[in-house]
Amino acid sequence: MKNVAAGIAISALAAVGVEAQENRRSRVAPAPVYEVSPGLGHFTDDVLFGEVWLRKELAPRDRSLVTVAALVSTGKTGQIPGHVRRALDNGVQPGEIGELITHLAFYTGWPNAISAVTEVKRVFDERKIGPVAESKAEPIALEAVAEAARAAAVNKSVAPIAPALADLTDRVLFGDLWRRAELAPRDRSLVTMAALIAIGQPEQLPFHANRAMDNGLSWIEAAEVATHIGFYAGWPRAMSAVPVLEKVFAAREAKAAPAGAAPSNADLRIVRSATSEMAIGPASQFTGQVRVSGRYRGDEPARIGGGTVSFAAGARTAWHTHPLGQTLFVVSGRGWVQKEGGPREEVGPGDVVWIPPNLRHWHGATADQPMTHFAIAEALNGSAVSWMELVSDEAYRAGSK
Ligand code: MN
Repeated sequence: MKNVAAGIAISALAAVGVEAQENRRSRVAPAPVYEVSPGLGHFTDDVLFGEVWLRKELAPRDRSLVTVAALVSTGKTGQIPGHVRRALDNGVQPGEIGELITHLAFYTGWPNAISAVTEVKRVFDERKIGPVAESKAEPIALEAVAEAARAAAVNKSVAPIAPALADLTDRVLFGDLWRRAELAPRDRSLVTMAALIAIGQPEQLPFHANRAMDNGLSWIEAAEVATHIGFYAGWPRAMSAVPVLEKVFAAREAKAAPAGAAPSNADLRIVRSATSEMAIGPASQFTGQVRVSGRYRGDEPARIGGGTVSFAAGARTAWHTHPLGQTLFVVSGRGWVQKEGGPREEVGPGDVVWIPPNLRHWHGATADQPMTHFAIAEALNGSAVSWMELVSDEAYRAGSK
């Protein structure tokens, strides 16, 4: 990350033709910033890029999504190209940037979205990125119980006053936009939260913060979004979001509290194999063709969740960690699993792999055979995995990083 920041800093300095000054670590703020507002230069380089962007509470890719969402939603078009370049460098796919804009058209208005397209097109042209193709993946299935509750709320409070708005909300916003496979539900929630905080709409935040955590965002990440937005939309917007998040966290904690000896009348839930949603593993988290089916998550206070992951030959996860570890049960094929610095182990049907908490590792198929495993992990603060960079072809084939 520091290399990326340094690269940008160097190009920014070169662009304004300024002499390399002192031995400063890395500069993102262009020279005129130091000439006009030296304090701003200091805070830009030492605090914003020297500290906040490096905080582990939110991955660089997520920070880029949050930043671009803040710029698009507040109409700060002049800053969009620089942050779109940074987003691409941080692993955000061109199609994800395009879909972020599509998504925010609904949340912060068409004019902002159309203006953003113009700026992003310049970056795509400069990097020779061709037209973005729409995903051929099946629409994502929304969680049925939560979706029914949402639709009922709209039907009660919006439909009597603005029936067309209620219809469009159900049919287009949640029936189409939120189901598009171009952006993972968790990332859609991330950019929605970022936009709501950036434009100062805390009254819409409880619904979307809860949805974000249902979609896999952790409390720590949600709070870090507000922290990061403080720099891109101002402290008041960030501070206004905090009490809202506090209420959301408290409500979720109360719901998650052990119910004591009270008997449950909850129903069994069976994810039927025939109807189970088949999702494509996103390119930021997997290399090659990866499909996930039978995904489930236990009810709070249970932390457990899992799913069946099928890797085509040569496909694998990115490097990642699990806060509370992970168990893999190999169902079929031949696979490889490797911890950082350790040997690449081969696994086959019936093998069970325990991955300890916070251990950097990857898993996937061997180079010439597919592999399917069932993966189970517990979530800590709402998150069961932290994704890092992709496993390079060399590391994958060499069996060592
Ligand atoms: Mn894993």
